[in-house]
Amino acid sequence: MLGSPPYSDQLGQDDWSSPVILVADDDPAMRLILRHTMEQDGYQVLEATNGLEAIQMTSKQVPDLILMDAVMPTMDGFEATVEIKAMAEHADLPILVITSLDDDRSVSRAFEAGAYDYITKPVNWAVLRQRVRRMLNIVEAERKIRHLAYHDPLTGLPNRLLFMDRMDQAICRAMRSDDHFALLFIDIDNFKVINDSMGHDAGDILLTEVTRRLNSSVRRSDTIARLGGDEFTVILENVSEPESVVLITKSLLEVLSDPITINQREVHVGASVGIAMYPQDGTSFGHLLKNADTAMYRAKALGRNTFQFYTSEMSTAAMRRLELENSLRYAIEKEEFIVYYQPKYDLKNGRCIGMEALVRWDHPEKGLVPPDEFIPLAEETGMIVPLGEWVIRKACAQLRDWQKSGYAIDDLSINVSPRQFHEQDLCALFRQVLNEYELDPGNIQIELTESVLVENQDTARQVLADLHTMGLNIALDDFGTGYASMAYLRDFPIDTVKIDRSFVLGIPSDRENIAIVRAIAGLTNALGLDLIAEGVETAEQVEFLKNIECYRAQGYFWSKPVSSLHFEQEILKRA
Ligand code: C2E
Ligand code: CA
Ligand code: CA
Repeated sequence: MLGSPPYSDQLGQDDWSSPVILVADDDPAMRLILRHTMEQDGYQVLEATNGLEAIQMTSKQVPDLILMDAVMPTMDGFEATVEIKAMAEHADLPILVITSLDDDRSVSRAFEAGAYDYITKPVNWAVLRQRVRRMLNIVEAERKIRHLAYHDPLTGLPNRLLFMDRMDQAICRAMRSDDHFALLFIDIDNFKVINDSMGHDAGDILLTEVTRRLNSSVRRSDTIARLGGDEFTVILENVSEPESVVLITKSLLEVLSDPITINQREVHVGASVGIAMYPQDGTSFGHLLKNADTAMYRAKALGRNTFQFYTSEMSTAAMRRLELENSLRYAIEKEEFIVYYQPKYDLKNGRCIGMEALVRWDHPEKGLVPPDEFIPLAEETGMIVPLGEWVIRKACAQLRDWQKSGYAIDDLSINVSPRQFHEQDLCALFRQVLNEYELDPGNIQIELTESVLVENQDTARQVLADLHTMGLNIALDDFGTGYASMAYLRDFPIDTVKIDRSFVLGIPSDRENIAIVRAIAGLTNALGLDLIAEGVETAEQVEFLKNIECYRAQGYFWSKPVSSLHFEQEILKRA
């Protein structure tokens, strides 16, 4: 049994090395000898002259052990023991009853009252000393076990269990005094990236440092807990003004955004914070935590290193998200997905050379759901990994089928999201799939966005190099829209640049877009990279692209993405 959570977290605090013993006896001579004996053994001693006094003293300063005389005026030791044990916070406080009444009845009365043990007068001092020592050892062991059960071993912070208890206490206090408090839900940005790229030891150093900084920036009375992973919570009590919560949260974000040195490397983390207020945003532990969590998600979505207060609209959005998330999970099991294909063309001879695989969700009620509505969610929840693998297999099988049927296409583009790229062994997957369908790696183009390269450069470079060595073609999708760092083109093994639709759209009216497309064409040409344009809708755009020596393109000018059946009937057969 673990007993109740500890009311003090400071295990190993100074006074533990010298336990406090309360001596309750009406006989001054007896108190004197007891004090002397206990002090000789290194304990601190408090004195009470009767049961009532013992109760009063105990509520002021909790001793580690009580030596309680059975017979005292005003209130006897049995009654005092019953009263002390009735208080929840003293349920584990050991009481040793000292009785001269060496009869069975008083011994059983002592135990009934809740005494831990008893000893008879005249006191055998050697026995008493040994018994006290043994009891304190047991108490310490119990405390240690309780500490372990209620604290996170890495950071020493209260864990979820103790946090729940602290929340209940805070709710009780706030309810009684008609007060407000704030619950902060903190999630460390980029923790996963650092943990994955620099190893778990680095992750541990990071969490320990975050804990140190959190501890240094809130009041001692505020509870900080680690719920698990990179999730922390803080309870800020007695804050009726949202402004003061804002101030504390801002200073928290500030200290967390200072770079942290791990293994001689500086890393930047930052955090996203969601805030729920008692009682406006909930009056129970579960409600407050859920709403603070929802607000944290919103903060993350708004860009990192920021905070958000919970609002009820978030809850509606979260509900919708949850609904979609649930049906998405179901959709993967039920295989409600279809791969559509958009043809890619060679502008020199006007022939279809291949296709881009674009996934669709055939929702039983909503019909065809476009990827913009579910890919971000699949990415956030990790479902993109199995979904993406399914698309890769499906599209490769399709290319093999069409090649076997004699169609001259050899250029299949597949989109790969950041999470797929970082969490899945893409090399192993492609090796296996290419082998299974007997495809030439040169037939496959992997489309990545710049965000993949930004996140975790060293690992990204390594994975790209491996894929490149295997013979796969690497394309940078949506080029020009993201970080637009031209350096990526030089620094990473990239074969093809895909000009984003938004630039092609501006041709020929938007001079700035034209200038950008020309610049991209010049750059890729100089670096010896291939160029492809997407979102081509007009003959004018086709002419312009040929002019700047961009000879590959796709877009509504030729065809929207279509089903495989349509693709074969209307595009391949007519070529
Ligand atoms: P993306 O890779 O940039 O795909 C091109 C998008 O532009 C497609 O939208 C396509 O239908 C659309 N498009 C093509 N030509 C034209 C045009 O001439 N005019 C206009 N207005 N639009 C054109 P879609 O199919 O809705 O896909 C949206 C995004 O969803 C994709 O953008 C891609 O980022 C993501 N996506 C789609 N399928 C997958 C997949 O299997 N895996 C992953 N990870 N992402 C996918
Ligand atoms: Ca794409
Ligand atoms: Ca694109």
